Amino acid sequence: MNKMLGELFQGKKFVGSNLIKANIWFMVVFVLNVTISFMYMAYSVQADYQQVRQAADLRIQLLTLENALVDQETGQRGFLLSGKEEFLEPFDQGAQLYERTAATLLGRAEHVSESADFKQNKARLIEIGRSWKKEYGDPQVRKVMVGGTVTNTDLEASRSRFDSFRSLEAELLAFVEQLRDKRRTDMLHNLYYLFAIMGTIFVAVQSFMLYYLQKGLTRIAKPIIELDQAVASYKGGNIQATLPAYGEANEIGRLIENFRLMHEEMEKEKRTLDETYQMINVLNQARSVEESYRVTLQSIGALVSCDRLSIIIRSGDRGFAIKAVFENSQLDYRDIPLGGEEGDMYQLLRGGFSILHEDWSKYRAKGSITDGLYENGIRSSLHIILKKEARVFGVLNLLSKEPHAFSVQQKERLEQLSPMIVTALENAKETTRIQDMALHDGLTGLWNRRYFEACMDTFDVERGQKGPDYAFSLILLDVDRFKLFNDNWGHQEGDLVLKYLAQLLETCVRPGDVPVRFGGEEFAVLLPHTRLEEAEAAAERIRRRLESESPSRKYKITASFGVAEWTDGFDRQQLIEAADRALYQAKETGRNRVCAYREEPGGELV
Ligand code: GH3
Ligand code: MG
Ligand code: MG
Repeated sequence: MNKMLGELFQGKKFVGSNLIKANIWFMVVFVLNVTISFMYMAYSVQADYQQVRQAADLRIQLLTLENALVDQETGQRGFLLSGKEEFLEPFDQGAQLYERTAATLLGRAEHVSESADFKQNKARLIEIGRSWKKEYGDPQVRKVMVGGTVTNTDLEASRSRFDSFRSLEAELLAFVEQLRDKRRTDMLHNLYYLFAIMGTIFVAVQSFMLYYLQKGLTRIAKPIIELDQAVASYKGGNIQATLPAYGEANEIGRLIENFRLMHEEMEKEKRTLDETYQMINVLNQARSVEESYRVTLQSIGALVSCDRLSIIIRSGDRGFAIKAVFENSQLDYRDIPLGGEEGDMYQLLRGGFSILHEDWSKYRAKGSITDGLYENGIRSSLHIILKKEARVFGVLNLLSKEPHAFSVQQKERLEQLSPMIVTALENAKETTRIQDMALHDGLTGLWNRRYFEACMDTFDVERGQKGPDYAFSLILLDVDRFKLFNDNWGHQEGDLVLKYLAQLLETCVRPGDVPVRFGGEEFAVLLPHTRLEEAEAAAERIRRRLESESPSRKYKITASFGVAEWTDGFDRQQLIEAADRALYQAKETGRNRVCAYREEPGGELV
């Protein structure tokens, strides 16, 4: 509770408490302001009122003094004229009251500022009263009581003294009246004045407080409004809108900071999504399986930082093989079959679920591959199973030398990508297959005329670069009397012969030579880095094998061969024509033979 109150009044962690604090301060200042104002006003009015009241007291005392003297005078006259003692009572009472009032009037504390004249007159007034009593009060009364008489002159003298008392008293009363009026007006003026000052101070202090309260509220409300606008614009799809800058460590600060983090996360997510789309796009354009491995590994390397990336793909019916490794920005195509002794990989592939191994020093899969990698410093790994509709296609291995290099989110994201990668790999494979089909002959499986032309392009370029030293020869061969064979043995048997011949060609030529079905029962072999004599020898080798190894004992198959070398001044068409001319020559000179095109001085073919 204390802590809560502490935080509330510190007001650092909560804007709400700042607000409450400001409000409390506002109320305290308000109450203090009102109280002080009223107290001061009451004090000021009290002082003025005191003076007014003292003036009134003064007046009453003057009047009482007069009454007391009147009582004395009437008491004395009554007694003197009638001799009756009952008149002595009001006389005595008047005399006592006069003494008391006179003493009070003389001895009281003087708060009311009286003029020196007034003070003198007051003393004189009392003096007159006392002297009146002294001369015409008690002595005359006692004189009558002992049987004496009072003359008319005595009475007249007493009356004149009495009158002078009254006139002085009237003068003093008028002065007191004046004083009282003045005090009243002063008090009213002071009151107005006080109201004006207090009102001004009150309004000023409250305005000041309200101003700060308003400023505080604006400071709170402004970032919230800006935040609201930014969030509304995110909702509208614009994630570029900037959040308000607010450096205070309270709930608004935290709210804005959390939104900022959310925003960063959103932008990161969007970047990743863009990169992912780009990757899928590039992946879908991959024309070969190798290209799709390259794009996959490079793109994933860009999405998730790691030290080593490899892709293992199902190869053949049962097994898997490491197809490519991406390490130190270097891509290596491999085709290393996994024999099964690498228990770890098989375990993973059999499980069919992607796995995150956060710290190899604590746990890692058992097996020779993992052991080797651990020795090379790998400390964490993420294995994403490439699968589509529950069929495991392979696995992507992301490896890092840092422990805890990969997160569960990265794993989930890559898992989502997995079917797309598989589709792209399948598409690349299919594209390769179709491309392959387009370059192969349907009956024999040999390269076809289109591939022949493409190879000629390549050799043409190579020859252009390397000059006349680049030897290149062409063999054309045509089955002898094949029309007749078809007629005798049927077209199907003819097809078998063509397939047989294709196989024979493939086994007879060197690696690098390109055997092609040229069309019908005509074949060609492209021989790079081969001089005419060598090509002739190769043709002869083929011819002999065909002659000696017939596809069936029932018949014999032979072929005629035309050989030519790409010499200076030849273009591609001329090379084919030269070989064709040599083939024609072989046919003409009895078939089942090899003829080479040689441009002799006479232009004869040999
Ligand atoms: P030669 O070349 O020795 O002069 O005689 P030839 O009978 O082989 O002559 P030609 O080139 O005129 O005949 C080619 C024959 O090859 C025609 C056709 O019946 C046959 N032929 C072409 N393509 C095929 C094919 O795909 N299958 C089969 N069975 N026969 C084919
Ligand atoms: Mg022919
Ligand atoms: Mg023929």
